[in-house]
Amino acid sequence: RRISEKHDRVFHSGCLDPDREAKGPRANAAFVVLARNKELDGVIESIRSVERHFNRWFHYPFVFLNDGDFNSTFKEVIRNYTSGPVEFGKLDPSMWGYPDWVDKEVAREGIRKQGDAAIMYGEMESYHHMCRFYSGFFYKHPLLAKYKWYWRVEPEIKYFCDITYDPFIEMERHNKTYGFTIAIKELRETVPNIFRYASAYKRTNNITATGLWNMFLEKKDNHKSLPKSLPKGKKPLPEEILNTERGKGNLDEIDPNSMEGESYNMCHFWSNFEIARLDWFRSKEYNDFFETMDRSGGFWMERWGDAPIHSLAAGALLDTKDLHYFRDFGYRHTTIQHCPANAPSRQLPRSPFLEPQIDERKRTDEDEYWEKWDRPKENGVGCRCRC
Ligand code: GDP
Ligand code: MN
Repeated sequence: RRISEKHDRVFHSGCLDPDREAKGPRANAAFVVLARNKELDGVIESIRSVERHFNRWFHYPFVFLNDGDFNSTFKEVIRNYTSGPVEFGKLDPSMWGYPDWVDKEVAREGIRKQGDAAIMYGEMESYHHMCRFYSGFFYKHPLLAKYKWYWRVEPEIKYFCDITYDPFIEMERHNKTYGFTIAIKELRETVPNIFRYASAYKRTNNITATGLWNMFLEKKDNHKSLPKSLPKGKKPLPEEILNTERGKGNLDEIDPNSMEGESYNMCHFWSNFEIARLDWFRSKEYNDFFETMDRSGGFWMERWGDAPIHSLAAGALLDTKDLHYFRDFGYRHTTIQHCPANAPSRQLPRSPFLEPQIDERKRTDEDEYWEKWDRPKENGVGCRCRC
């Protein structure tokens, strides 16, 4: 199964009248921005874009979070650019840095080795903390307690189209849990063992795969039922591993990305954009998943990003119909972008996400192509896009 029109449609094609749309009630939602003082310029760039293309009509609040203190310049300048209420919060040490059960020396050595191996951001301790924060803690922050929905914003992002309806309200109306706009492949060396643990979580909790899990499997495994027993030559993952490997990074000899005959295709939702329900992140299931992943030590011994964590959690815990693909949102962060089809597009988006609108008719080679390379075929899904 794929995410197709059957499970998920664009909420609105083209432009609506935003003033009229904004007359309706707001959702219980906020933008969430983790940032440092030195990123002020990049944050301004992002806020200007969000305001210009959406929030000048809808005036949703912003929550800014930081492991340090925001300085007064940061706060004042931000207040000048935002049209909704703004709050600033500091992370307490329980949400940032090493937990007490981790052997810091082992973890630091693991991080140092990733530097030697030239793994992207591998040697940056703070980056590991950030990924772990966005994987298992942001939704527990007291400033977010009052909200049901969040929309993640990072420094240096850009929206290309006007967003003339309220995506939170539409997510709610369509009973959606998680929304994304770009899916790409993860750098394999940053997550060599991630799939092993996600797979172990699924197995130890007797989770039978939903259609969505398939999206994260190598094509050869797609739509294939799992073998009853482990393939020959593959050692089963001992259940104890989940308790004994704490921070030790005992990466072993089995092919870590191939469990029970399945292997991870490295696909993940690019989480610097996300519109999602916070109560899903706050659920026992999600937190058990996070705990399983966390206790493996993978946030230190490897450089697991929050994007593959959120994605594999969605694969294990959500159904295809719970997801929404914001194919109408033109979005860019650093070098990767998604540009809806009605724009004078110059560039193919580089996300191998599946966008078939073709379930009901015969598949062609061209359909295969479009399924691999995410590019909406509908005309006019975006509104006033300039990519
Ligand atoms: P990239 O997009 O993967 O290159 O990662 P970024 O450097 O953009 O970091 C992701 C998000 O976390 C951004 O919103 C950053 O502002 C934020 N971030 C990263 N490291 C830190 C940190 O050490 N402290 C704080 N407060 N925010 C951070
Ligand atoms: Mn970023």
